[in-house]
Amino acid sequence: MTRSAAPSQGQFLTVVSRDEAVRRFAAAYDARTLGDETVPLDDALGRVTAAPVRAPVDVPPFDRAMVDGFALRAADCVAASESAPVALRLNGEHVHCGHAPTLAVGPGTATPIATGGPLPRGADAVVMIEHTEPGEDGVVRIQRPVAPGGGVAFAGSDLALGETILHAGMVVTAREIGLVAACGVAALAVHRRPRVGVISTGDELTEPGRPLRPAAIYDTNAPVVAAAIRENDGEPVRFGVIADDADALRAAMKRAHAECDMVVLSGGTSKGEGDLTHRIVGELGAPGLVVHGVALKPGKPLGLAVCDGKPVVLLPGFPTSAMYTFHDIVAPVLRRMAGLPPRSETRVEATVPQRVPSDVGRTEYVSVALVEGEDGLTAHPVGKGSGAISSFAQADGFITVDALADQLPAGTRADVRLFGPQVRVPDLVIMGSHCTGLDVVVGAATARGLSVRVVAVGSLGGLRAAMRGECDLAPVHLLHPENGIYNRPYLGEGMSLVPGWRRMQGVVHRKGDARFETRTPEEAVEAALADPECLMVNRNQGAGTSIVIEKLLGGARPGGYWNRPKSHNAVAAAVAQGRADWGVAIEPVARAYGLGFLPIGPEHYDFAVAAGREARPAVAAFLECLHAPEVRASVAALGFTPAED
Ligand code: AMP
Ligand code: MG
Repeated sequence: MTRSAAPSQGQFLTVVSRDEAVRRFAAAYDARTLGDETVPLDDALGRVTAAPVRAPVDVPPFDRAMVDGFALRAADCVAASESAPVALRLNGEHVHCGHAPTLAVGPGTATPIATGGPLPRGADAVVMIEHTEPGEDGVVRIQRPVAPGGGVAFAGSDLALGETILHAGMVVTAREIGLVAACGVAALAVHRRPRVGVISTGDELTEPGRPLRPAAIYDTNAPVVAAAIRENDGEPVRFGVIADDADALRAAMKRAHAECDMVVLSGGTSKGEGDLTHRIVGELGAPGLVVHGVALKPGKPLGLAVCDGKPVVLLPGFPTSAMYTFHDIVAPVLRRMAGLPPRSETRVEATVPQRVPSDVGRTEYVSVALVEGEDGLTAHPVGKGSGAISSFAQADGFITVDALADQLPAGTRADVRLFGPQVRVPDLVIMGSHCTGLDVVVGAATARGLSVRVVAVGSLGGLRAAMRGECDLAPVHLLHPENGIYNRPYLGEGMSLVPGWRRMQGVVHRKGDARFETRTPEEAVEAALADPECLMVNRNQGAGTSIVIEKLLGGARPGGYWNRPKSHNAVAAAVAQGRADWGVAIEPVARAYGLGFLPIGPEHYDFAVAAGREARPAVAAFLECLHAPEVRASVAALGFTPAED
């Protein structure tokens, strides 16, 4: 069913540099705005003005009293003082807001007037009521002189008829709406928002909200791409999750192309068997694919096409790759279509404290977490190259390492592109071992208005980060193999330790497995080692649990030893799903996966406080949460034992 054009027959992509890709895309598609529409003010927020707005009236429209007082002729009260007030005869009306005066102010007379009231004919100033006193019937005494024009806002003094009050290309905020409303403008001409068709493709994809089939994953790209489109003033139109099926894909792509101004598809963009998108895109119109393969890491299988004057983008399937390439290459085009300038609010400068090695020949995207240090912002690489979606939670944005550089030297000032306009540097950074109990404390801190970043890097990783000043707190559970003491022996200079809670850890196994049931952990491991078919699952080096496992193994290296995932959950999942028969994990996790559990002993999960950080208000607030009775109760309810301190 696939009609493939000659260039797509080959096995590999024709890779071009990032800059060449951008150049070819720009040459094939002259990004410009899509025409205007007029929207009522209530719908104008966030839109981009398509034309200048000139004031159609003066604001204020007439000479207007700025104070409550008396409209008069300034010349009449030049000599007025408290000791010798000038008496003026009151005219027979009181000028209120919204009512035109009927009587002129003649020499020697005054008319009472309210703030906002129109100045009567003949008057040239308004004296404040506080500077007057009532006189005999029909007379007011003026106690101070007032300059001509005093107490008066003249017609057009705020905004003058014909004055440009909004320029084209401005983003409309409440302020702009106030300006035009004051001139009586009820609707604004704005650029039409680009409609962008969003398609995810892959046999393995399931839409969020539905149950997950075996071997399936949730569609992450469509929601994330749609949101990023909205952040850049586009209007996403979803065309659902499409299987790797040429007919279905062709139908969806054709519909999206016909109904939208741009199409952003993700997945199936390489040149493998099941990768169909690049073959179909040419059927949507000329010139078709202008780039297929870009020297990016990650993000190589990026396709850029223009079909009948509309851009069609094939994003790589991995969500992080899709996001990097969207922000770097697609968002600027979308913003031009929306009439928006390039983003400035999503760029910050920061120092990269560590050397970042990089491949020569590919532009590399590196996710970074921003930390407010003593010398300004620093950008710490996180989850480099892993493609993990958690880098969205742990990172604030990304930096780009030039294709020709083999590294970014430590101390480089780098341009960080934030993942979105709302991203802010967190108040508190926690790096170390993750625990579900930690989520409770972080939840309490967040409820108090603290923004907290948790980066799971293991106990040792957390301690190293704390020593480098990259985080405030490092949650750790490290048993010293010689003295049997938890955590304290590992503290670096100037660091302190705040006790957290105790977690029972033990051998986990599938219920009913006779090699483990009813035995002690030591007996169980002995039985496991005696059975050559029995597979273990280990923990990553640096995890506190791996020290406990080494002790149990006594130097043995059974099957599965080199399977070293990074979390209790991964261990429990491996055992529950039968990829391994035993491992060591904490009790609440074992219970959550319905596994058997042979307790070994309580592990201490404590918080190392980085040197010089204990006085930070965010640290104090977090520790207050840690010690709060209701937080301790919630931690205990999860199966942990809060430390007595
Ligand atoms: P592909 O580009 O189709 O080869 O996909 C590359 C990787 O990204 C595969 O592991 C896919 O399962 C994954 N992937 C593709 N599309 C999505 C999506 N919409 N959401 C999450 N992961 C995806
Ligand atoms: Mg695929």
